[in-house]
Amino acid sequence: MLLRHTPKEIKERKALTVNPAKTCQPIGAMYAALGIHGCMPHSHGSQGCCAYHRSALTRHYKEPVMAATSSFTEGSSVFGGQANLIQAINNIFTIYSPDIIAVHTTCLSETIGDDVNQICQKARDDGKVPEGKHVIHCNTPSYVGSHITGYSNMLKGIIKYFSKSTGVKKDQINIISGWVEPSDMREIKRICRQMGVKIVLFPDTSDILDAPQTGVHAFYPKGGTTIPELISTGDSKFSLALGEFATDAAAKDLDSRCKVKFKTIDLPIGLSATDRFIVALSNSADVDVPASVTEERGRLVDIITDMQQYFYNKRVALFGDPDQLIPLTELLVDLDMRPVYIVSGTSGKVFERRIREILAESVPDAKVRNGHNADLFLLHQWIKNEPVDLVIGNTYGKYIARDEDIPFLRMGFPILDRVGHSYFPTVGYSGAMRILEKILNLLMDRQDRDSSEESFELVM
Ligand code: SF4
Repeated sequence: MLLRHTPKEIKERKALTVNPAKTCQPIGAMYAALGIHGCMPHSHGSQGCCAYHRSALTRHYKEPVMAATSSFTEGSSVFGGQANLIQAINNIFTIYSPDIIAVHTTCLSETIGDDVNQICQKARDDGKVPEGKHVIHCNTPSYVGSHITGYSNMLKGIIKYFSKSTGVKKDQINIISGWVEPSDMREIKRICRQMGVKIVLFPDTSDILDAPQTGVHAFYPKGGTTIPELISTGDSKFSLALGEFATDAAAKDLDSRCKVKFKTIDLPIGLSATDRFIVALSNSADVDVPASVTEERGRLVDIITDMQQYFYNKRVALFGDPDQLIPLTELLVDLDMRPVYIVSGTSGKVFERRIREILAESVPDAKVRNGHNADLFLLHQWIKNEPVDLVIGNTYGKYIARDEDIPFLRMGFPILDRVGHSYFPTVGYSGAMRILEKILNLLMDRQDRDSSEESFELVM
């Protein structure tokens, strides 16, 4: 009964958020920057912010996440952090020798009004950036938006600094990935190879945040999108942006800077969204869908057919990031489940519109909320008033699940209390099979636990 003070009675709130369904912008910027090879994320603010952001990522990915900080003191908080950042850039290149320093701001440096663009330029002009090395930046004021906004902002920063158009198109497609696990990024690359499509995937945290244990420490693991690849994105013939909230703005920027046409589609989570990804890939690269992909799809359809009787009509509450929730809701509807409560802390009108379109016929009375007053407190209240059969979301949902005795599927960011999630993809047809298996196991385990001795069955 950890959340025993959550009342059943719902009062509309304007100013208060309790247990937000999001985290802060710089975490997203840091995660996106880690998807570039040889990159050191840098937090322009106080040490506490950087320590929190690093620990949130480290706890989820179970890998040592490195990042530097401008280490604001009282003096820099009053007079600005220019001297700190220039000193930091000098120190980082001298001691840690990254190819790129990716600077993001924090609430503090944004409130002071530090002009990070100007400071980075001054560092270059003063010769603090060695030849062939780069400093990029983005603004991530965390009193607006969420970690997804920060991720999106860093993607725009990457494009602004690196993407170049030579006027000669390359036979390659950009895949701009929304926030997914490193294993998902690896799976997206595998699918593209299977389709015979040459891509530049960015960011790409595979082999960085799930790097193999070799016994030899690599300060900058081998993964990540390289600088030549990033530069070449301006010459790609098309971009597929996966997840409107995290990637649409970056795709638009790339188009306006380098004339690379794009299509924004959902993250390929579930049957329908993966179908759209495969079709978009096939159309944009002008390739046929190989039999091996069709067979993978067929296996997913087969497993859905086998499992559907157990999913039918089950009520589900889900919360997390919009780009994951939209295709996940669609998958649940495809399974004949009833996603009745959907909450995201990330703002944006398109979220509710998309969810309502998906639920129009199957669950027209679903409760959907996103933005600053969409939080886990409200979700808990909804569940208290009308219970559900399953909760899906990040680790913070475990308190609601325990209090209300509901099966709980951990999905999204952050997952702090389990290990392994970053190694197994949930995108693509095989990723969807994994989601299905996890949901079914939770429902069947609950049925076993609650059944009387007479109805405890060997075959279910
Ligand atoms: S919300 Fe602002 S002050 Fe708090 S950790 Fe994030 S950047 Fe720092």
